[in-house]
Amino acid sequence: MSGKLTFTMIKPGAVEKEYIGPILKMINENGFHIVAMKLLQLTIPDAKAFYEVHKERPFYNSLVESMTSGPIVAAILEKENAVEAYRKLIGATDPSKAEEGTIRKLYADSIEANAVHGSDSDENAIIEGNFFFSTSDKFFKG
Ligand code: GDP
Repeated sequence: MSGKLTFTMIKPGAVEKEYIGPILKMINENGFHIVAMKLLQLTIPDAKAFYEVHKERPFYNSLVESMTSGPIVAAILEKENAVEAYRKLIGATDPSKAEEGTIRKLYADSIEANAVHGSDSDENAIIEGNFFFSTSDKFFKG
């Protein structure tokens, strides 16, 4: 059975452009409840650890630089089938390929500065939630 929780970040470029409000509005209007949220700036070691799965990719250093360039919003979102529903709402990684009306189509600048992160599996949602929220276990255990 699919889980009810997913993890998101609003990335530095979108925070800088004052898109926190519009993106949270879309999140709420699409039926997600925000169960945890904070605004913070990632350190380089934080960003390297969060994106470690991509460490062999050519864009890794640039991604780490971009993700540490300013504050982000980290949040845990609740909805039935949360991971899949949120991936659909954010759209494709590359905003030029994202569907009309998706968060990335509306608010992303590029494939790297693509406005938001969304977990790609229930397992990663738990790992990523725990990365940012020391109390997130209580949400994931219900
Ligand atoms: P996501 O699950 O849609 O966020 O995509 P991935 O897990 O594949 O990639 C993680 C993040 O790395 C993306 O959200 C982008 O910020 C960045 N990224 C992915 N592919 C590329 C790429 O080809 N070039 C650059 N510069 N960044 C990328």
